[in-house]
Amino acid sequence: MPDATVRHVRPMLCRVVAIEEATVHIRIVRLEVVGGGPFRFTAGQYARVTFGEQRPREYSMANCPDDDIIEFHVRHASTSGASAYVAQRLRVGDEVRVEGPFGHAWLRQDHRGPLLAIAGGSGLAPMKSIVETAVRHHVCDDIYFYVGARDEADLYLEQRFCTLAAAFPGLRLVSALSEPVASTLRRLGTVIEAVDADIKSCVGMKAYVAGPPAMVNAAVQLLLARGLNPEDLHSDLFDPTLITGREMGKAGQSDGL
Ligand SMILES: Cc1cc2nc3c(=O)[nH]c(=O)nc-3n(C[C@H](O)[C@H](O)[C@H](O)COP(=O)(O)OP(=O)(O)OC[C@H]3O[C@@H](n4cnc5c(N)ncnc54)[C@H](O)[C@@H]3O)c2cc1C
Repeated sequence: MPDATVRHVRPMLCRVVAIEEATVHIRIVRLEVVGGGPFRFTAGQYARVTFGEQRPREYSMANCPDDDIIEFHVRHASTSGASAYVAQRLRVGDEVRVEGPFGHAWLRQDHRGPLLAIAGGSGLAPMKSIVETAVRHHVCDDIYFYVGARDEADLYLEQRFCTLAAAFPGLRLVSALSEPVASTLRRLGTVIEAVDADIKSCVGMKAYVAGPPAMVNAAVQLLLARGLNPEDLHSDLFDPTLITGREMGKAGQSDGL
């Protein structure tokens, strides 16, 4: 398999080809590379992205590496930073600078055991890339894909994943709502509680986790307690400002951002 650690970091100039409002808080931004490409990365990695005059920020690629268009999912997380710029000012046709790839939580295609992907919020982006690439290249027979959101309105791309699961019976998709505003037939509670209830042993699995640090840390503790080999746990933490060095050490293959 291609080894993500030997990918060369490239500065690229891209152009916005589409912007989609996935939820009230999350925009899907699609880019074409117009200079400095081709962009080679491994599913699960991220790039350093500069929107307008904003400071560069990290965003995970949500597309598969063999797709032509780069896809980012940007959650509106600030009033004046890069994510606010995307929510309020970014337009189709704008130029965007992208540098990458970075990160260690990339899909290991040589692992044939079950794959567990856990996503919270915009952590869906790298997990989408990993799960869709694993299905496309039939990396393994069993894929458990857990998606956490607060409310129904925060879930997105669900129909796409249901279609994927119908075509690939080994893919089991579970979504959990932690704070539904109306009654729901879905799983209630955090995504980690759903994993806790369903998966009693993680021996032989490969796990990828992306989302808020609290969710990632809860996942790390649970999966290791269920027998997951620490070397089979991969996560690049999304918000380095909210974690301590000790917690980062626990987060599997965190790249120390
Ligand atoms: C490896 C990695 C991958 C990532 N991948 C993604 C991804 O795929 N999608 C994604 O959406 N994000 C991702 N992030 C987070 C992203 O890089 C940015 O940190 C995020 O978009 C916030 O950037 P900003 O410039 O808008 O906010 P900043 O201005 O940098 O603010 C940082 C934080 O401060 C807080 N803050 C800022 N303004 C306010 C305010 N007015 N009130 C309260 N709190 C405030 C917010 O919590 C915010 O997250 C990733 C981060 C890392 C490290």
